[in-house]
Amino acid sequence: MSHKVEILSVGTELLLGSIANTDAQMLSQGLSALGLNVFWHTVVGDNPQRAREAVELARSRADIIITTGGLGPTCDDLTKNVLAEVFGKKLVYHQESLERIKDYARVTGRPLTENNFQQALVPEGSTVLVNDWGSAPGCAFEADGVHVIMLPGPPSECRPMFHHRAVPYLQALSEGVIASHTLKLFGIGESAMEAQLRDEMNAMSNPTLAPYAKEGECELRVTAKAPTQEEAQALLLPKVEELKARFGALVYGVDVPSLEYVVLEGLKARGLTLGTAESCTGGLIAKRLTDVSGASQVFRGGVVSYTNEVKHGVLGVPQALLDQYGAVSEPVARAMAEGARQALGCDLALASTGVAGPDRDDRGNEVGTMFVAIAAPDGTHVRPLHLGGRPVRGRLRTQTAHHALDLARRWLSGLPLED
Ligand code: ATP
Ligand code: MG
Repeated sequence: MSHKVEILSVGTELLLGSIANTDAQMLSQGLSALGLNVFWHTVVGDNPQRAREAVELARSRADIIITTGGLGPTCDDLTKNVLAEVFGKKLVYHQESLERIKDYARVTGRPLTENNFQQALVPEGSTVLVNDWGSAPGCAFEADGVHVIMLPGPPSECRPMFHHRAVPYLQALSEGVIASHTLKLFGIGESAMEAQLRDEMNAMSNPTLAPYAKEGECELRVTAKAPTQEEAQALLLPKVEELKARFGALVYGVDVPSLEYVVLEGLKARGLTLGTAESCTGGLIAKRLTDVSGASQVFRGGVVSYTNEVKHGVLGVPQALLDQYGAVSEPVARAMAEGARQALGCDLALASTGVAGPDRDDRGNEVGTMFVAIAAPDGTHVRPLHLGGRPVRGRLRTQTAHHALDLARRWLSGLPLED
């Protein structure tokens, strides 16, 4: 049976526009990966009457309702009360959660108030979803053929609670197993990928293929359904291998979190270190690398060499090159990478220089003219980029950082640096 899912986000902040509904986005992505159809996103404020109406409507049309927010200890946190009321369930204390809340308060040094104990109340007959990432537990129950799953609002709790608590619950609902693998690609647009795969995608039913575009990267998710995990994997793996062979060096990983993660793993595997010299990306490459925990083992540091003085003074880029070719040029990108490798004492160095806009530079270089470079023990390579199109500063910087990281992951995997 195919399910109909409604995501119901509770919070006045969402309606006021103070925050974006990233929980719903994250949930939709995760649910579609499970092959579940999300038909509605609803947002309602912290108002009991309107929340009740929203729940009534959701249960009239969906058979899985996932709520976010409003599980905390304050009086505007009304989600559980409203759900219990609409589905005619009493709220009962969950003993283990009471203990956990006391422990959590002790560990975090926060004082306990009467309100905190309300967090341990769940609709009777619920499966409690233990929250290892915060204090308010989630819960799930089934009533009148509708499954309700309640998750906390803070994204740092909602995401792990979904993956580690709600997904197993949802998997238990479906007969059999839904499993998927995600290929991550860089260097091909979503439309090009889709064009190559369209006929196949339409013809496939198990496994299925779904492409996603994400800020200049592409994901290709292969999902299979089967009675057992083994059978699902047997359907998936040949397809994954075939796609890897088909897209070759464009695939930077399978089931990996990000390009920077792959770069760091490659460095660790080979016992090498990395540094950065960034102009147009303003530290974005270093930021992305250091977002990954454990980066310090292999990432030595970076220089944001925004001005020519810093390019020359700190990185040792010869003044003559800057004068002759300008900062946005192949020779300067090369010298920046080589200078960073020296100055930072690392095995590999990445550099970026370019025109992020909105205006062309004083030498008339178009917005989107970028150079990324890698300096390595076996030499230096520069990739010129023309990222024109719709020049948006943020997008150009993100794309440029992708390209620099792509050079590093290709070098580390022994792949040709260019196709
Ligand atoms: P808490 O125990 O922190 O009160 P809660 O489950 O009661 O958690 P809310 O009080 O509704 O959740 O929201 C807490 C915070 O989580 C909000 O201030 C907001 O920063 C974030 N948040 C809530 N809902 C969402 C959402 N749908 N998307 C993104 N962030 C959200
Ligand atoms: Mg709250």
